[in-house]
Amino acid sequence: MIPDCIFCQIIKGELPCAKVYEDDRIISFLDINPVNAGHTLVLPKTHYGTIFEMPEQEYMACTIACRKIAMAVFRGTSAAGLNLLQNNFRPAGQLIDHVHFHLIPRYPQDKFLHAWPGKPYHQGELERVVKKIRAEF
Ligand code: 5GP
Ligand code: ZN
Repeated sequence: MIPDCIFCQIIKGELPCAKVYEDDRIISFLDINPVNAGHTLVLPKTHYGTIFEMPEQEYMACTIACRKIAMAVFRGTSAAGLNLLQNNFRPAGQLIDHVHFHLIPRYPQDKFLHAWPGKPYHQGELERVVKKIRAEF
């Protein structure tokens, strides 16, 4: 529990939330500012900043819960698609420093399809990048 963490305060019951699911390790509630109605957050009850600090077992519990809750969100909102997203650090869009996963119901007409436009690699860049990533295992 980090006292000034909003999500820790929600977990403790000090702040309200629209709870969707809870077990001994996980809590899930509606995002207060949804991309689409039913946008749901899934998070571990233990405070970790990002996925990089999480023990593997905790991460596994989150991903298993995400899929289970995603099914309920998908059906419960009659969505046509669903994004499972997770942001780490400010450059990736993380605003709340308690690790969480977004489940976002999607519809053909919602126009967010190309939020991340792709771009081609420069000459030799792909080979350099794949080498650097492989070297980190
Ligand atoms: P991030 O950008 O860190 O991945 O996502 C943080 C999310 O938390 C945002 O989508 C934001 O709308 C949501 N959020 C921020 N404060 C609260 C809150 O007090 N309650 C709930 N339910 N969601 C919040
Ligand atoms: Zn926290």
